[in-house]
Parts: sequence; structure tokens; C-alpha cells
Amino acid sequence: MSFVDIFNQLKYENDYNEYILDSIKDFFSNTSSNSNKRVKCQGDGECYNNIPGTSIFYRTKYCKNNCTLIKCPNFILCKNYFPKVLADNYYGLCYNCSIAYKPCGEGKGKLETFEFYQCENCKEKTTCIEQAFCDHTLCLKCFKLAHFKPGNDKCPICKIGSPLSK
Ligand SMILES: [Zn+2]
Ligand SMILES: [Zn+2]
Ligand SMILES: [Zn+2]
Ligand SMILES: [Zn+2]
Repeated sequence: MSFVDIFNQLKYENDYNEYILDSIKDFFSNTSSNSNKRVKCQGDGECYNNIPGTSIFYRTKYCKNNCTLIKCPNFILCKNYFPKVLADNYYGLCYNCSIAYKPCGEGKGKLETFEFYQCENCKEKTTCIEQAFCDHTLCLKCFKLAHFKPGNDKCPICKIGSPLSK
């Protein structure tokens, strides 16, 4: 199993936490500092690089600005961190969320969550989240079933989904 596989597995398990992510960031900032081109950091995370095909960012060099990554507004769904400098490019979201919940500028983008709310699909009272393309609110379990499986990207109640999935 490659490093990236392990990272992605940890990310979607419940024991994933920021400590693991910090160790990964440290690992990459120590091993790759010589091989990357130098960038002038303005303090918005320009010093970070991305591992292609992943949502993993690592620092390319020591940065006097002490940059940190910011949490995606939909962190509860995507578990992604990204450098602030990218926020404007993707509607303030991580790249994955901008494609999933704000494609071509459509959709709500940042999705609101509600504690102790009754899921409108399974009726369980738990943490719920609104969907990007309709006003139905689902628990995380129903949300993931409805949107995380390929070819299965519609609200289970009204069947409205991303314009990209039509
Ligand atoms: Zn920096
Ligand atoms: Zn995200
Ligand atoms: Zn539910
Ligand atoms: Zn709906």
C-alpha cells in the first residue's frame, strides 16, 4: 500500500485526526525542501505544494510567515485542508468541494450543518447537513450514500443532483 493510500484510508476512518496530518506535513517538509523550486511566500500559504492527484499539501521550504493550512468549510465531509492562497480560485472551498458542491458556480458551495436535527430521509436525529442543489437536509450517513458513490449523486428525496451528473 502506498503512502497516499494509507493517508486516504486514515482520512476516512474515524480515528483520523489533525495529529496524523501534522506528522505527514512535517515528513514532507523535511524530505522535499531541496527538490522544489523556491517560491516567495506572501503569508497565504504560497510556500505549500500539492502532491498531484491528492488533496495533500506540504511545505516546500521554511517559511518565515509561519503559514498554516486552513480547513475547508465543508471539512465534516471532505476532511481537506488547503493553503489560503487557493481559496479564491475555488469559491473558498477545497478543490474537491468546488467540483462537488459548486460546479460551474452553481450550487451552494459551503453547506450548513445542524446538530440534533432530524434527517429528512431516514428520520434519525443526529448531525445533519444541507445538500448543495436542493433544500433537503440529510444526516452524514444518508449524505454519503447519496453523493459519495460514483453515478449516484442525487437527493434521495427530490432526486435533484449536481448539473454535472445529468
Ligand atoms: Zn508561507
Ligand atoms: Zn472540502
Ligand atoms: Zn439519514
Ligand atoms: Zn432534495
